[in-house]
Amino acid sequence: MRNLTKLKTDLDVVYSGNIVDYLDVDYVYIPMKKNYKTLVKNNEIVNKGEILLEDNLNKIVSPVSGKVIGMTTLNIDGNLGNAIVIENSFKEEEKKSRKYKDNKFDRDAIISKLYEFYFKYIASVLETKKINNLIISGFDDEPYIQNNAYVLKKYHKEILEMADILATSFSIKRTSIVIKSNNAENIETFLARIGTYPNIFLELIEDRYLLGKPFFLLEYLNLKEMDSFVIDAKTMYEIYNALKYNKTTYETFITVAGPSLAKSMVLKVKVGTIFKDIIDNKIKIINKKPNLFILDGLMTGKPCQIEKTIVTKNTLGLIVIPDEEVKESKCINCGMCYKICPVKVNPKRVMDTKIKSHNCINCGLCSYICPCNINLRRYLEDNHE
Ligand code: SF4
Ligand code: SF4
Repeated sequence: MRNLTKLKTDLDVVYSGNIVDYLDVDYVYIPMKKNYKTLVKNNEIVNKGEILLEDNLNKIVSPVSGKVIGMTTLNIDGNLGNAIVIENSFKEEEKKSRKYKDNKFDRDAIISKLYEFYFKYIASVLETKKINNLIISGFDDEPYIQNNAYVLKKYHKEILEMADILATSFSIKRTSIVIKSNNAENIETFLARIGTYPNIFLELIEDRYLLGKPFFLLEYLNLKEMDSFVIDAKTMYEIYNALKYNKTTYETFITVAGPSLAKSMVLKVKVGTIFKDIIDNKIKIINKKPNLFILDGLMTGKPCQIEKTIVTKNTLGLIVIPDEEVKESKCINCGMCYKICPVKVNPKRVMDTKIKSHNCINCGLCSYICPCNINLRRYLEDNHE
C-alpha cells in the first residue's frame, strides 16, 4: 500500500455551521472556450438556461437571465482567458427546451438524461462499463476546503436516495459512502440514516492527502478501477436535481476559509461569480494587514487577484492568509521532496536539470515538505507541456 501523507492543519480557522447562499449577483462571467461557437451577441437579452456557447459535444448555458454587456479578460481556473459578461436582470425565467412527462429511473432513461444534463463523462462510464462498486466520496482533499463534507451533511437524504437509484438501476453490487474518520458529525448523520438502505455501506477512511483522487482512493480501498466508479457528493447532488427534478445546475459549492477571516464558510454561488463580490458581500476579513488570496487551496492552488478571478464548475474555493514573506534558502539535499512524492518523481532533479517529468500530478507535496521553503511546484509546472 502506498504511503499517503497526513497534512498539518494547524491554522486558526473557524467555520460557520451551514452552507451560506450567495446567489443574487449583479454580474456573471462566462468563460469563452477554445473551439466553442459563441451563440450570443453584445446587448442581446438571454434567459437563464439559454445556450451561450457550444461545440459538438458540450453546451454552456447562462446561469442567470439578463443582458450580454461585453467581454473581459479574467483568471479562469488559474489561467487568463476571455469571458462573456452578463448583467443579471433578476428575472429567473428558465428557457424550457423540453417538457418532461415523468421521471423514469431505468438504466436507459438515466443514461439519456445524464447526457442531456451535461453529465457526459458519468453517462458514458455507466453506459459502457459494468460497475460493481460505486463509491460516493464525501470529503475534500485540500486542507481547509470543506465542499463535499458540507454538501454530504446538508443533502444526505438526497444523496442516499440517488445512490440507491443508481445501485438498483445499474445492478451495482456494493455502494459506499466514504467519509473521513475524523468527521464525527457526518458519521453520526449517516449512521442514523443508512439503515433505511441495506445495500449502502459507510466506509471510513483516514485523513490522508490525495485520497480525494479516485485512483488513490480505489487503491486505498483495495478496489479495481476496472469495475469501480467514484462520484463526489457535490456531483451526486447535481445528478439528483437533474434526474428527479429536471434541473440544470447553475450553482456550485465553494469554500472561502483562512485565519484572516472572522468566519470561514462553504458557500453556494452562481457559476461565473467574481470572488471580489463574494468577499465584499459575505466574508468578514479580520486581518487588517495585507492578505494573500490563494485560489483552490494551499497544496495545489495559486495566489490570485480576487477582482479578476471567477468561480467555475472546477473551483474549490479561496484560502485567505496573512501575506507574510516566506524566505527560500538553498537546497540542502535532504531528499525529502523525493521521498514524499507519491508518484516517484524526483523534484530536486527536475529543478536542477530542467528535464521534464510527465508523471507529476501537481499535488504540491514536495513544496509542502521542503525544509528550505523552495517552491518546487514552480519548476514542475514550468515543465508541464
Ligand atoms: S508536485 Fe509532482 S513532483 Fe511534487 S510531490 Fe507532487 S507529484 Fe511529486
Ligand atoms: S526537500 Fe528541498 S531541500 Fe530537500 S532535497 Fe528537496 S529541494 Fe532540496
